[in-house]
Amino acid sequence: MKNKSKTVKTTCTKCHKPFSYDPNTGEHLLCSECEKAAEDMKFKEEHTYICKSCGKKFTMEKGEVQFFLENNLSLPKNCPDCRAANKLAAQIKKRQTCKNCGKEFIITVGESQWYRQMELELPVRCPECRSKRKK
Ligand SMILES: [Zn+2]
Ligand SMILES: [Zn+2]
Ligand SMILES: [Zn+2]
Repeated sequence: MKNKSKTVKTTCTKCHKPFSYDPNTGEHLLCSECEKAAEDMKFKEEHTYICKSCGKKFTMEKGEVQFFLENNLSLPKNCPDCRAANKLAAQIKKRQTCKNCGKEFIITVGESQWYRQMELELPVRCPECRSKRKK
């Protein structure tokens, strides 16, 4: 007695139809129909985008796209590299508008940490106005 094709009987996790598969092809949780549909979906939902900052092509995976849609977020317009760079830039600088002359100036994260440590308010005047005041 020889078992030519040993198959595993299971139930599809999606449509709950019983199906059997050859364990040599790996573990299957979906029947062949649902598996094919899932593959098609995956293919369709993986999009290629062009980065608005550097013009580089980047892809978003189905899971990623779903995360943005589920959280009502707009899909990123920049590639992961530019996004990381933007995030870093946001961490480094903090824009502040001068109360005196209305000019924008930048407070670095290091500076704001120093002010916090000294329990001081962040400066509300630009460095120019501050130095003028000292004189
Ligand atoms: Zn199925
Ligand atoms: Zn980019
Ligand atoms: Zn100023």
